Amino acid sequence: MKLIFLGPPGAGKGTQAERIQAAHGLVQLSTGDMLRAAVAAGTEVGKQAEALMARGDLVPDEVVVGIIADRTEQPDCSNGYILDGFPRNVAQAEALDKMLASHGAKLDAVIELGVEDSILLARIEKRAAETNGSARADDNAEALKKRLAVYHEQTAPLIGYYKNVGILTTVDGMKEMDEVTAEIEAALELKEKDNAS
Ligand code: ADP
Repeated sequence: MKLIFLGPPGAGKGTQAERIQAAHGLVQLSTGDMLRAAVAAGTEVGKQAEALMARGDLVPDEVVVGIIADRTEQPDCSNGYILDGFPRNVAQAEALDKMLASHGAKLDAVIELGVEDSILLARIEKRAAETNGSARADDNAEALKKRLAVYHEQTAPLIGYYKNVGILTTVDGMKEMDEVTAEIEAALELKEKDNAS
């Protein structure tokens, strides 16, 4: 299965992707994690991404598209993967479509985690306080505002994009974590039934 988890910063994409991947033999591909690793390792990509990430801006499309194209070709991705944090705009979604089509592959489902802005702010402030601001350079009020604005302007249009293709499922990301996981599992079960029939 090839899945996308879509939603604003702090929606719980990473947490849910981690739970779902194990149960389905998938690999979680978080572009945010990969970019943070590149920054920590001081690679060319890391140098390009560091300042943009710290202020909550997107890293250039060609950089993240390249990362995903390479990563999804690795043998551990052969059973499928969950894209967490990618695509983040329509250009990235189109690049992904092309990439999949060139391999005769397609997406199985896009799971949108819906969470209101006021709740996101509270969640991320809590995460920043718990990690003492040390874990992520972009978990501060200013960068967070920027990340939310970028989400609404550039990423939210993907909801309509995937709705049009008929593969979007929206899950209420404001429920209890276990309930959210159960709703995602139910949506995936439906897809698997659809695919089998
Ligand atoms: P969150 O969704 O919690 O804001 P992520 O860990 O997904 O955080 O991403 C952190 C940062 O990494 C983003 O603000 C952006 O700078 C960069 N980034 C991650 N994924 C992408 C992407 N697909 N395209 C461009 N930039 C990205």
